[in-house]
This record gives sequence, structure tokens and C-alpha cells, in this order.
Amino acid sequence: MRVDAVYTGARVLTGDDFRPMTAMAVHGGRIVALGDDATELRAARTVDLGGATVVPGFHDAHNHMAWYGMGLDELDVGEASCRSLDDVYAAVAARAAEQPEGTWIIGRGYDQTKLGGEHPSRHGLDRAAPKHHVNLKHTTGHMCVVNSLVLDQLDLGNVPAGGDVVASDGEPTGLLREQAQRLLDPLLYPVPLADIERAIDRAGRRYVAEGMTSVQEAGIGRGLAGSTPIELAAYQRARDAGRLRVRTTLMVAADSLHPLTHAEDDDVEFGLDLGIRTGFGDEWLRIGPMKLFSDGSLVGRTCAMHQPFAGEPDNVGYFQTAEADIRDVIRRAHRSGWQVATHAIGDRAITVVLDAYAAALAEHPRADHRHRIEHCGVVDDPDLRRVAELGVIPVPQGRFVNEIGEGMRSALGPEREDWCYRQRSFLDAGCVVPGSSDRPVVDGAPLLGMADMVHRRTPAGHVLAPKERISAREALRAYTYGSAYATFAEADLGTLDVGKRADFVALSADPTDANGLGDARVLATAIGGEIVHES
Ligand SMILES: [Zn+2]
Repeated sequence: MRVDAVYTGARVLTGDDFRPMTAMAVHGGRIVALGDDATELRAARTVDLGGATVVPGFHDAHNHMAWYGMGLDELDVGEASCRSLDDVYAAVAARAAEQPEGTWIIGRGYDQTKLGGEHPSRHGLDRAAPKHHVNLKHTTGHMCVVNSLVLDQLDLGNVPAGGDVVASDGEPTGLLREQAQRLLDPLLYPVPLADIERAIDRAGRRYVAEGMTSVQEAGIGRGLAGSTPIELAAYQRARDAGRLRVRTTLMVAADSLHPLTHAEDDDVEFGLDLGIRTGFGDEWLRIGPMKLFSDGSLVGRTCAMHQPFAGEPDNVGYFQTAEADIRDVIRRAHRSGWQVATHAIGDRAITVVLDAYAAALAEHPRADHRHRIEHCGVVDDPDLRRVAELGVIPVPQGRFVNEIGEGMRSALGPEREDWCYRQRSFLDAGCVVPGSSDRPVVDGAPLLGMADMVHRRTPAGHVLAPKERISAREALRAYTYGSAYATFAEADLGTLDVGKRADFVALSADPTDANGLGDARVLATAIGGEIVHES
């Protein structure tokens, strides 16, 4: 038999324990042999990888690809470009000078904790761009600031529950938090499919250059993260046009699910039309979990906490979805066969979501449900044990510590620091931990994310909850096997073994060693045995 390709001259880290082998043979998109078995085969192509270390392709389990891709066109007001509020206003004024009056200036990435603690204000934006529509999005996506021209068009008499329009002396400051951002929907949405398709393409080019071969898109459809209720169509168009560059699992916003007509004995009572649910699709584009938002953000101090935020005795955050609705939606989606991924950051939100999962499982037992808690940001020991006992997958973001760790520390205060974005404790309790970034909330490059899971250094150099550090090997395992497991794909993805898909990345150094991880650069990325990026 002649196989499609044999890759030689590499250290291929195979199996669950990253056992090094010298070569890998690929046929029909899958690995057919490793080591000497591979070099003995006749091949259409033999590729010498020049001494590279080869590991499974990186897989981001929580990522907003379309949002990130669209952000590549937006005005960057993050800390790399803007060190003060004056910098933010100057950047808006400069963009206004380039764009026709009446157009939108969308900015992204500001973080008030990096701007002296103050959000930009409508009046500041009015001075910078009086004749444009301005919307500056917070780096977390949980809030935004708009100028007066935008504010005047909003239906401020109908602020949705689970959000607020911040006011000072009875006058809106321009800051819209959580669900109040939905007031902008009639002005911004739906985004045209062609724009989303282009964003998916642009994001995907970047991802393969970073060694990424699979992503899980953390929310399409309606809701905080979605661009249009028909967003799946953009992914399908991108795929048809060859512009979907990484394997993609789509989480579906809970708001897109609805009651279904069904025979009495069928449990499919809630979901998408036709009964489509988790798992539908193929190796390139699949429906993943239902995505539900329970609470808000930690640095934004809007996540639901058992005890108040540090220095704010009256603020325990809040739920974006009412507790009774969280229980009800989870119960119905679970019963209808969905995997459920619930955004929960505050410890109180996590308690409520675990209660909801436990109740749903008691009513309709299912062995391999793999329900998830996205972020799982603040969790004490008893709830951490419950996460493991219920078989729930926690999806924390290592990179948060490096970029927004100081904001998280000041929101929690010293007593709760050890509960923040845990990793080691989840692994020790028997959980599978995926690797993820929540990009574009923070930089999503997987090698950076892995290094941060190992070091846990805040921007100020503090090691946040040092005992939650994990090894470089465990971080790589998270970004490969862990993420595959979190989307029921570990039979095909996540390790380099005979029979698995040939998704791999060739690196300049060995990332299973902390020093190698710091030095490693992506040399080439392959999906299904085809090289899709070379540097
Ligand atoms: Zn997210």
C-alpha cells in the first residue's frame, strides 16, 4: 500500500503520555502508522520536518471566532494602544477624522481597571466624535459605553432584566451593563452574513498560524455573543467557500432553542427546529452544546457572588438569567439530549448551576452528559468536589490570570484568591480540564494560554493561587485532549495515535517542558494531514 504522506525528521509526541516517536504516516486524513512502522511504508510524499517537535493540533474549547474576526476591523482601545482615558478619546477622535459623519465607530478592548478605574463617558465621547455613532466595548464583552448620539436612539424606558443603564445624578453616563447592551440590538443587528463569513476567514487564518486546528465557538444565534439569529448560515457559507480554516464546534445560544412538538413518549421537547441537537454535523462543522449565560463578569463585578465584592459591601453581583429560568432551561435541554454549557463565574452562580445540573440528572439520568461550566471562575472546595462528582467539565481560562488577574484579585480580596480560576484542584479531583481563551476577551494564542496555566502570573507579577499551577505537560494535555473531550471528539482528536485524525502542529521546541513552552514557535500546522500553515 502507498500512503498519502510520511512525516519524518521529527519528535512526534504520541499517545496520552506524549511518548516520542520519529515519524508519522498519514492516509485519508488519518494517522495510519507511527515510528518505524511509518518509515517502512511507501508514500506519495515524504516530508522532512527538520527536527521539529510535533504535538496534536491545539484546540480552544471556548472562543468567539466571529466576534474576534470582526474585531480585527474595530478600533483598538485596549491597554496596548491606550494607557489613559485621554488616549481613548484621542483614538476615537482620530478615527472620526477618517470616517464620514454619521457612521459607526466601534471600539474594543477597554478595561477601566487599566484606565485609572474610570470607564469612558458619553460626554467625553461626544467631545471626541460629536457627529459619529460611538460604541466602545469592554474587553470582557459584558458592558459597553456609547455616546449621546447613540444613547438618544435607545429605548431607555424598556431596559431588559439582567442589566442596567448606569446613571450619575439621574443622567445616563453612557455605560450599558450586561443585558442592557441588548438595547443596541436594533441599531447593530442582524450583522450581514457576508461580514460574518469574512470575519470567520480572517480569524481562521490567524488561528492556523498559531497552531490551532479546532475551536469551539462559545455562542451563536441570539444573546450576548451572537451576531444574527441565522449565524449558522455564515459558518456553512464559509465552509462551502473554503473559508472555514479550522474544525469548528458551534455552541448554540439558549435563546435560539424553543419548545418542540413531539410524541408524548419522546423526550425531545425543547431545541432547534427538526430536533437538531448537540453532535449534529461532521468533522469540520458541528453543533455543540447549548450555551446559557447565568451571570456576568468578575473584573466587571457583575457575576453572582455568595459574599460581596471586596470594598463594595452592597454588591454581590447578579444573574443575567433568573434562577428559576436557569433551572428550567437546563432541565429541558438536558431532557432533550443536549450537552449544556453554562457561563458561570461567581461562586453563587456556580452553586445554582450545579444544583440545576444535579436536579436535571436526578430526573433524567444520563451517564455521559459532559455538561460544562464555562469559566467556573470562583469556586470553593465543597462546590469543586460537586463539579467532579457530577461529571461536570469546568472550562477555566489560564490567560485571564495574566491579563486581568489584578482586576480579579481586587474584586475578590485576599480571602477568596485561592478560589480563583482553579486548575490543579480540578485535575486532582478527577475532572478533565480543557484549554481555552475566551478570545477576544484576552489574547487567544494557545502557546501563551498554556504558559499562563503553568505560571499564573498577574500583570503585576503576583502568582495567583500558586497551588493551582499545573505542569507544561498538563497544559498541553488540556489544549489537546481536554478540549477534544469537552466536545465528545476524543475518539478522533486530541492525541497523535493510529486511527486519529492527522491534526498536528510542528514546533521549534518541546512544549512539555516549561522552558521549551516559553521558547516554542509554530513552524507548521496540519489538518487532516494537509499542511495549512507554514512559517
Ligand atoms: Zn465567552
